[in-house]
Amino acid sequence: MDRKDVVRPSLAEREMAAPSQGAELRETAGKGGGVFATRPFHTGDLVVTGVITAELARNDAHASQIALHRYVRHGGLMPKVNHSCDPNCGIGLNASGAHDLLARVPIRAGQEITFDYAMRNYAVEHFPGRCQCRTALCRGRITGWRDLPPERRDAYRGLVAPYLPDTPTGAAPDTDS
Ligand SMILES: [Zn+2]
Repeated sequence: MDRKDVVRPSLAEREMAAPSQGAELRETAGKGGGVFATRPFHTGDLVVTGVITAELARNDAHASQIALHRYVRHGGLMPKVNHSCDPNCGIGLNASGAHDLLARVPIRAGQEITFDYAMRNYAVEHFPGRCQCRTALCRGRITGWRDLPPERRDAYRGLVAPYLPDTPTGAAPDTDS
């Protein structure tokens, strides 16, 4: 995509395009900001609406991967949602091409909203430290779809970025620089 094609909506436009719908930003214990449910959600409910605010030339720590070689910035709450290796949400592609978060299990008001970054990114290279998700299924490090065991891929079926199941195993990820 040419630079002149990059759309940069104003902050006000982005906020209006990404209503919170029952989730809000709060401080977490030890992980900085996180997104929390302000009401209950049933399995399959739309929890966070995705809106793309910019096309990116390369991957970075806040990028969303929407194809093997295509990265975008999401606005609204999406960039604030923390990773979990046993998340309560997954990815759904909306009509604008952005990633929504859909509940994969029932969520109570007050619970932190999470998804597995491997549901979105083929390779994850921006989180070198220990994963902080504290779930029984924690992989120790935040890894991408490329490194996800087959049983976890199966558990996430239908709740990952659609390009991922179509990506051949062993495809070369983009490098960071
Ligand atoms: Zn973890």
